[in-house]
Amino acid sequence: MSLISDNLQAVLSDIRRTELQYGRPASSVRLLAVSKTFGTDAIIEAARCGQRAFGENYLQEALDKIAFLKQSVPEFTLEWHFIGPIQSNKTKPIAEHFDWVHSVDREKIAHRLSEQRPPDYPDLNICLQVNISGEDSKSGVSPDDVLVLAERISGLPKIRLRGLMAVPAPVTDFVAQREAFQRLHALQNQLIARGISLDTLSMGMSSDIHAAIAEGSTMVRIGTGIFGSRNYAK
Ligand SMILES: *Cc1c(COP(=O)(O)O)cnc(C)c1O
Repeated sequence: MSLISDNLQAVLSDIRRTELQYGRPASSVRLLAVSKTFGTDAIIEAARCGQRAFGENYLQEALDKIAFLKQSVPEFTLEWHFIGPIQSNKTKPIAEHFDWVHSVDREKIAHRLSEQRPPDYPDLNICLQVNISGEDSKSGVSPDDVLVLAERISGLPKIRLRGLMAVPAPVTDFVAQREAFQRLHALQNQLIARGISLDTLSMGMSSDIHAAIAEGSTMVRIGTGIFGSRNYAK
């Protein structure tokens, strides 16, 4: 077995074990394999092991890989998730080539994705990215503004608001990790109480996956744990 297939199996068993440990229903947490900076060979290897959902941060890199894979392995129907910062002049290729966008954090972006999603495509699934730790440098809507944003965009055609996403400030303490995820979950519950139907909490990366599952994550975004460490210099 290859390293990627070993890692993938280990991450999946870890997810199943952690669901059990925290009383989460079996298979309530989906795995998004974050393939940014890794080549199409790595993605094909993961796809051969059954992985279908892949997350990318950098638009041009993602578009190149998506086009190549469509050509070279048409037998795999892959699901593409955009999880990086979005420039408003780059929404069209996102609306045309992705199935999910996790990083919507302003109304303008949602409007553009809604208008630019091709009419014959299924609705684009979106999550609102929340700046849950209140960091100045982070993208994401402030927790205070999430409800208004969600209400404004939830009726737009061709996009479907599925839930919330966050990348909390990195901390190693498990209790502190849980605390940030717990706040995101509470925010999601507030929106649901206001009549917005949501089913996705996109939270948890390689270093905080257990805390995220403990606090109700439905989709963990794992890069390093599957593909190894990233080399940005390449
Ligand atoms: C890179 C990235 C991940 C994956 O992080 P790992 O620590 O490698 O698991 C998840 N989510 C977002 C938004 C990312 O940018």
